[in-house]
Amino acid sequence: MLTGIHFLLTYMCNFECDHCFLYCSPSAKGTFTISQVDQVLEEAEKIGTIEWIFFEGGEPSLFYPLLLESIRRSSSKGFKVGLVTNAYGINSREDAVLWLEPLAKAGLTYLSISNDAFHYGEQVVNNATMAHDAAKELGIDTAMICIDPPVVEPPEDNSDTDSGEKGQPVVGGNAMFRGRAVETLTKGLPTRPWKDLITCPYENLESPSRVHIDAFGNVQICQGISMGNMWQTPLSELVKAYDPLEHPICSSLIHGGPAHLSTYMDQKPSPGYVDECHFCFTVRKEIMDKFPNFLAPGQVYGI
Ligand code: SF4
Repeated sequence: MLTGIHFLLTYMCNFECDHCFLYCSPSAKGTFTISQVDQVLEEAEKIGTIEWIFFEGGEPSLFYPLLLESIRRSSSKGFKVGLVTNAYGINSREDAVLWLEPLAKAGLTYLSISNDAFHYGEQVVNNATMAHDAAKELGIDTAMICIDPPVVEPPEDNSDTDSGEKGQPVVGGNAMFRGRAVETLTKGLPTRPWKDLITCPYENLESPSRVHIDAFGNVQICQGISMGNMWQTPLSELVKAYDPLEHPICSSLIHGGPAHLSTYMDQKPSPGYVDECHFCFTVRKEIMDKFPNFLAPGQVYGI
C-alpha cells in the first residue's frame, strides 16, 4: 500500500557526491514551484492512504522559503512531514536552531541528515551534527544517514569450497550502485556473474510503499523507473492504474531481476556486475530511449 510521497523538491545540490543516485549538482535543473507542490498534495489526499510526505533532493533547503511553505501546507492537510537534508546553510549551533525552528513550527516531524565522508570528510563537528543537536533540543525525531564508500572485504567463509575454490570477496560499505555511483564507485570492485543477478533486492516493485516525484512530473518507483508523468495524468489515477505486471520494466524485474530485463530487452551484458542495481541501472540506461514514459528523467541517468 502506498503510504509515502517523497518530493524531490529540487535536483540542485550544494554538493556533487560520488554516491548520488540522482546526479544532483549545483547546476542541476528541476525545482518545484509552490503551485506544483499544491497539485501533488491535493492528489495525495485523493489517494487516501498517504500518511507521510517527505521533502528531499538535491538539497531542499537551497530553496528554504519553498521548503518552509511546503512543510506548512503538508502539515495543515494532516500529513506527517519528513525532511532529508545535508543541513546546508548552518554555520553554528545557534544558527542551526534558527534554521530548524521555523521548519518545526511549520509542522516538521522527522529530520534525516546526511553526515558522512562524502559530505563532510573527517570533520567531526559539522552542519549535520549541529542540525542533529538542534533537532534534539527542539524535540524533533531525527537520525543521521551515513554512507560508507565501498571497500573490498574477504569472503565471510574463507575455507575451500567442495570444488576446491576459495569464496569470493564481497563489497562492503552501504553505497548503492545507481546513478552517479555507477560511474564513480564501481571501478576495481569485484563482480558477480550477470546470470546470478535475478532479483530486485531493495524495492517492492509489486506494491510500492512510497514513490518519489520530481518537478518534471515523474512518479518514480525506483530512481529512474517511472510509473508515469503526473503533469499528464493525475497522480491518484496513475497510482490506481499501476499494474506492475503491465509495466514494461517492473514486470521484467519482478520475473527475474536485471538478468531477465537484459535478456528480454536483447542487451549484451558484461560478464559481471558489482550487484543487482549496477546491472539494472546499466541496462536501463541503454534502453531508456525506447521507454521515455517509464525510464525517466534523463537527469537521473546523467543526461
Ligand atoms: S535492482 Fe533495479 S529496481 Fe531494484 S532496487 Fe536496484 S536499481 Fe532499483
